[in-house]
Amino acid sequence: MKSYRLQEFKKPLASEQLATPSPHGSDVLLKGVAAGMCHSDLHLWDGGYDLGHGDRLSLTDRGVRLPLTLGHETVGEVVALGPEAKGVEVGKTYLIFPWIGCGDCPVCFSGNETYCSKPRFLGILRDGGYADHIVVPHSKYLLDLSGLDFNAAAPYACSGVTTYSALKKAGSAIYEAPIVIFGAGGLGLMSLGLLKAMGGKGAVVVEVDNQKRNAAINAGALAVVDGLAKDAADQIIRAAGGAPKVQIDFVGSEQTAALSFNCAPKGGKIIMVGLFGGAAPWPLPLIAMKALTIQGNYLGSLEELVELLDLVRKKSVPPIPITLAKLDEVNGMLDTLRAGKVVGRVILSP
Ligand SMILES: [Zn+2]
Ligand SMILES: [Zn+2]
Repeated sequence: MKSYRLQEFKKPLASEQLATPSPHGSDVLLKGVAAGMCHSDLHLWDGGYDLGHGDRLSLTDRGVRLPLTLGHETVGEVVALGPEAKGVEVGKTYLIFPWIGCGDCPVCFSGNETYCSKPRFLGILRDGGYADHIVVPHSKYLLDLSGLDFNAAAPYACSGVTTYSALKKAGSAIYEAPIVIFGAGGLGLMSLGLLKAMGGKGAVVVEVDNQKRNAAINAGALAVVDGLAKDAADQIIRAAGGAPKVQIDFVGSEQTAALSFNCAPKGGKIIMVGLFGGAAPWPLPLIAMKALTIQGNYLGSLEELVELLDLVRKKSVPPIPITLAKLDEVNGMLDTLRAGKVVGRVILSP
């Protein structure tokens, strides 16, 4: 099998020929069909995250071992089953849920494997989808894609389920008034279609890039605001018809964190999703005085991905803009993503 692997942090992915694995136990072997490219791939490539105050979170300390095949938004066709695997068909195409826990702890038993302290995330801690084959440890992580476009479905495994989980954390507020969304990258654009499908009032999108602001308008944003404008907070509040009760930050920079804080009313909620990096810029007494809820959202659960695919089918959620590329173009496409020039999602075909 051919894989594109990270052999060294901050170096281009290297093409490697490896023996195609034979599935053991409950393993399922799939042939790659579509592989979405995510911003987290750039953090993996960098080897860490900026924690602000001059600190960095090292992925090596968090258990990431190289060489590693990246790619966690993967659609594949089943080619072989391990002796104990059942419930999926050879020749059929599935979406792979990559946020796999140890499978043997109270957190995993509760169904939220994403929060497991010994994760086996595909494309992060185990080999992922930038390859022509991939092994998944159990068929329960494979979701039926009947009736859905395979390329459009790949991003649901990460940007889709993350966005859906964040929108659910907004609760009933989405039905009452427009919410505010920071960032019109893959997640921000995805959230607009999902918000509509969930029956929400819509969203004001804050984005510094003009091309992405246009993409947000095309994806159904009620209004767009340039986050770098001097009066950005006033513009956001005006466009949202008042200080927004719920804001979702898909960027996670010091600039977006400061802006959402300034826009929040008393009792407001800020849901943090993006991992751009930095330190919190908030005056601590004002968190109490404004009675704010600042909630983190990390990925989403298997159950939420099942719900999401149901929603996409029932409400015919339109796909976000997609750029198709060959797996061999992965390094060039990662550079384009880093330069902020990707509108929507890049999907690689192995
Ligand atoms: Zn991702
Ligand atoms: Zn576990």
